[in-house]
Amino acid sequence: KESSGRENSVAKIKVVVRKRPLNKKETARKEDDIVTVSDNSLTVHETKLKVDLTAYVEKHEFCFDAVLGEHVSNDEVYRVTIEPIIPTIFQRTKATCFAYGQTGSGKTFTMKPLPIRAVQDLLRRLNQPVYRDQKLKLWLSYFEIYGGKLYDLLSERKKLCMREDGRQQVCIVGLQEYEVSDVQIVKDFIDKGSASRSTGSTGANEESSRSHAILQLVIKKHVEVKETRRNNNDSNEPKGKVVGKISFIDLAGSERGADTTDNDRQTRMEGAEINKSLLALKECIRALDNDQLHIPFRGSKLTEVLRDSFVGNSRTVMISCISPNEGSCEHTLNTLRYADRVK
Ligand code: ADP
Ligand code: MG
Repeated sequence: KESSGRENSVAKIKVVVRKRPLNKKETARKEDDIVTVSDNSLTVHETKLKVDLTAYVEKHEFCFDAVLGEHVSNDEVYRVTIEPIIPTIFQRTKATCFAYGQTGSGKTFTMKPLPIRAVQDLLRRLNQPVYRDQKLKLWLSYFEIYGGKLYDLLSERKKLCMREDGRQQVCIVGLQEYEVSDVQIVKDFIDKGSASRSTGSTGANEESSRSHAILQLVIKKHVEVKETRRNNNDSNEPKGKVVGKISFIDLAGSERGADTTDNDRQTRMEGAEINKSLLALKECIRALDNDQLHIPFRGSKLTEVLRDSFVGNSRTVMISCISPNEGSCEHTLNTLRYADRVK
């Protein structure tokens, strides 16, 4: 069951689309559900007008590794996306799972339960004799990228900076890591961290849609370090050798990347930053997929931070979230085209 051959055969990049159900508002407005799902493909029915203003429907069909319709549960999403890569985390793999999509399409709804389920599975394995004897421990950190800057969500939004060591390993200076020994702790951390995501005068959901939230679970082999050899104190990373890592990234609302013509300067700058990071992310995943030696991770803060997850033994899962309503048609098509480019 533990054969490494099978575990290495888990696809390097997996692109999954999840469609949410129509919500109350959309139903009350009698909006149509314009997305039909069948197996691993879906069709968007776009209503267009001819020059003489008569309407016609243009169909757009897309195919992905998996398409999850509105009746699919969060548990099922976990089984399709994260469960298969859990064993690889014990074999020096760095995995990343992204939730991409417009604000309100279900990114947070989809992402929030995934690390909780992952911790359950990781801890179950860690408690097996074979791993217990190796002194492996699970660590959690949770931070945000907002306007190109890093903030620790579990440490009063302390501002963080990134540094690269000589071996091209990314180090986020000052980022707090917490040891995880049961699932409840993770739930508490997620609630605490989510509550501390960027909130501005415009309200919580509005602002959190302009930031990328990154939750990382890292398995480390515990090593005793002699007091005299202890590292310089600008890194408070718990000492240990990284065995594997999985990052869960709730991306900024994809429509925010278009905020580049807004009247407000701050909003424009944030929009430009988001646009840059989503483009850079797409380029990095494409480069990974083509086994390119050069991964253009320098394109944005987001991709720089994830640099060590884009080299070597990596797994990437992209979950593209879409809204089903007619009013979201353009955003939905943009999301699907983006997903289509990375698959
Ligand atoms: P986003 O993070 O992309 O802005 P949210 O995850 O906050 O979007 O989802 C917007 C709303 O839709 C929330 O109230 C959420 O509970 C609901 N929702 C999203 N996806 C689903 C789903 N698959 N099933 C039921 N409700 C959903
Ligand atoms: Mg959200």
